Amino acid sequence: MRRSQLFLKTRKDISKDEISRNAQLLTRGGYVNQVMAGVYSYLPIGLRVLTKIEQIVREEMNAIGSQEILMPALHPREIWEVTGRWNAIDVLFKLKGAGDRDLALGPTHEEVVTPLAAQMVNSYRDLPQAVYHIQTKFRNEARAKSGLLRGREFRMKDLYSFHTTQEDLDTFYDRVMAAYMKIYRRMGLGESTLITFASGGTFSKYSHEFQTLTDAGEDVVYEIAGTRTVAGMAERFGINSEIIEDQEALAGILPNYQPGDEAKLVKHKAIEVGNIFKLGTRFSTACGLTYADASGKPQHPIMGCYGIGPSRMMGTIAEILSDDKGLIWPEEVAPYKVNLISLKASDPATQQAADALYESLQRAGIEVLYDDRDLSTGEKFADADLLGCPWQAVVGPKGAANGVVEWVNRKSGTKQELPVGTWPW
Ligand code: ATP
Ligand code: MG
Repeated sequence: MRRSQLFLKTRKDISKDEISRNAQLLTRGGYVNQVMAGVYSYLPIGLRVLTKIEQIVREEMNAIGSQEILMPALHPREIWEVTGRWNAIDVLFKLKGAGDRDLALGPTHEEVVTPLAAQMVNSYRDLPQAVYHIQTKFRNEARAKSGLLRGREFRMKDLYSFHTTQEDLDTFYDRVMAAYMKIYRRMGLGESTLITFASGGTFSKYSHEFQTLTDAGEDVVYEIAGTRTVAGMAERFGINSEIIEDQEALAGILPNYQPGDEAKLVKHKAIEVGNIFKLGTRFSTACGLTYADASGKPQHPIMGCYGIGPSRMMGTIAEILSDDKGLIWPEEVAPYKVNLISLKASDPATQQAADALYESLQRAGIEVLYDDRDLSTGEKFADADLLGCPWQAVVGPKGAANGVVEWVNRKSGTKQELPVGTWPW
């Protein structure tokens, strides 16, 4: 993509509303644009990042055998009355449709997916099943001051699973936990993300949150010393601030627990980037979802739900993987792998060498943003640093004459000169 044609203008000053680091960086870089607090447009490079994040989530959800569907955002009031949540969810957006009909904008989808499953499931032979969608959610959040971290309109992947036995749910739940850590690792958040024990509701002792450590986070978690193995990987674990108060729960989590041990846990601020929950039969009972077991007796499937926030993850990456110059995208989610910069675009030989490199990068299938504008060197470097593509390829008059390109690694800042046609990775 040529920078001169891109629907993008980087900005020096932005709305005073944007106090969070992620919103400042992403707005200045032309990734997103605020429409109102908690509501954003995604511009071309922002959409590329979001789409890549969602694709990673999709791949890992498909890899554990769940199937993608797409459910609507607009819901009738009746399905929310069936589960008793029309008045119980304080962030539910309610509106009036034609004929004065009461409607809601979906903040989550148990109310849609459970009746849907009832159409597919008759017998124990139809189970287990797991379906997910990646879709826009609406929540009337009181505070929406954290940029992409807390949207009123935001992206979520929500997966729902249906089982005949608790053991089957437990096995699937553990697979989702491992898949989530794989997702965070692929987007550069693996090392700073804890799996935390949170309260579980009526049907299970605990749920689990995935908490990325950063002072920008709204949550407080307590890290447990050492690591625990999940699907062969050593993972960091923690405890949510609500459950830290519960001695019985602590005894189940911490080995050889003695009262007072909780004071030894390390306290951090964190962003909740995912949440997995064993729902039991709460929704299958409310929505009348049943199957006939082997003896023909009707039973309610046991359910699990598993959420992850792609737009919140994009904000989290911006918070954590950035410096005073701008963003530093990990390879897998970067809008482009290479930001090609021609210095002195007014010099025909330099421009020709840069054009040729642009073409050869494209021929090699490498995603490249080509800054072909006639701007000062300082402006171009500042822009490239703000945008944060992993590699900058710099072609100046000297390099053009000698057939060399200077490659700068955005993360480490290291520079190396390489002959045209060779890549630094
Ligand atoms: P929180 O505790 O932060 O309000 P939640 O526990 O209500 O979130 P879930 O209902 O479990 O969140 O949603 C699943 C995932 O969706 C969360 O882990 C988070 O990544 C994302 N998410 C939730 N609310 C928002 C929001 N307002 N903006 C952006 N992402 C969100
Ligand atoms: Mg939460």
